[in-house]
Amino acid sequence: MGQGKVWLVGAGPGDAEWLTLKAARVLAACEVWLIDDLVDKSVLELAGPQTRVVRVGKRGGCKSTPQAFILRLMLRYARQGRSVARVKGGDPFVFGRGGEEWAWLAERGVEVDAVAGVSAGLALGAALGLPLTHRQTARGVALVTAHTTDGTRPNWQALAQSALTLVIYMGMQDIAALQAELQDAGLPEHTPVLVAERVGCAGPRSRAMVLGTLARSVREAGLASPALVVVGEVAALAARLGQAAADRRCA
Ligand code: SAH
Repeated sequence: MGQGKVWLVGAGPGDAEWLTLKAARVLAACEVWLIDDLVDKSVLELAGPQTRVVRVGKRGGCKSTPQAFILRLMLRYARQGRSVARVKGGDPFVFGRGGEEWAWLAERGVEVDAVAGVSAGLALGAALGLPLTHRQTARGVALVTAHTTDGTRPNWQALAQSALTLVIYMGMQDIAALQAELQDAGLPEHTPVLVAERVGCAGPRSRAMVLGTLARSVREAGLASPALVVVGEVAALAARLGQAAADRRCA
């Protein structure tokens, strides 16, 4: 029995149309798929009758599958000589633990390769007609997480002064705290903010708002995870915002 191989595959933010041609080809060739919770069900529909699909996600009321268990599962399948796709929402290397998993498997002699995916924060541009960079107002863009487990926080002050567009992942868990942190860091209350839920999925929703009333606007609009919080002048420039009526039908 030959050695298997693990592919870290980015599935993009939503429906299967976001897959790259390479991701689709690698998925078709892999015998085992380990699926993260953010991967859209339309991607799962591409599995063949022989594909073993293992869901290792955290949503749907299930407890989180411990990362150590997922790692051991990948190792076991690879040592059985199987080709394994570790399928992640967006890009595996943007808040996706792709680097950690690659290193852990490589240390154990497993061959690893990866396929880039469209990160949710970068899909925003096309999905909403929103310029993430702008020649006058945003010289760059920072992808930042609001969720930390080790007690440290992003350097919001430096980010507030950077004049970069902030695309904040995992900010919905405590949106009031995020608002307070951004204001404490010096961003004025009239700073444009856009919250985009389920970018690229069925029933996406998005709202433009301002920082000073961010938490209240999110609550009133009923916006929930998974969503991105875009902060900066460009947040006021989305050409296409989600329409509430249509969204409710899809929800
Ligand atoms: N690797 C992923 C990010 C995983 S972290 C990527 O590159 O996109 C999970 C966070 O990503 C969520 O809390 C949310 O902030 C964001 N996210 C993922 N998919 C999303 C989607 N379809 N719409 C909006 N936000 C999304």
